Amino acid sequence: MDISEKAAYVKGLFDGMELDMNDKQNKVLKALIDVVNDMAEEVSQLDQCYDDVCDQIDALDEDLSGVEDMLYDEDDDDEYCDCGFCSNEDGNAYEVTCPTCGEVIGLDEDSLNDGGITCPKCGEKLEFDYDEDELDDDSEE
Ligand SMILES: [Zn+2]
Repeated sequence: MDISEKAAYVKGLFDGMELDMNDKQNKVLKALIDVVNDMAEEVSQLDQCYDDVCDQIDALDEDLSGVEDMLYDEDDDDEYCDCGFCSNEDGNAYEVTCPTCGEVIGLDEDSLNDGGITCPKCGEKLEFDYDEDELDDDSEE
């Protein structure tokens, strides 16, 4: 039995007693019971509102988590970073340093598959010696 049902129950009891409504005490009692019923209704409405607000906060929280995930995903994605310090983990670009002149040369998959390139600065032929598909940055001696 929730609070509105209890209030309605008391009101029913009071009405069933068929008290003399000309009696001042009974008038006060009836007025009090009416107030209790009004309050019970208010509380029930507030309770419903509270549940609704909680649901909305949960929904907002979920949305916010989604936004956070998107932001962090973007931060982790260095696809467009060309600062030279970020590693290129998508496998489409590599860099080697020419052992002769120190020029940093960007490579694509085709250069790798060719097994070597010519340094654009000093003309030194650079050959790649790497195991399997891994290009090890330390193997460019
Ligand atoms: Zn060079």
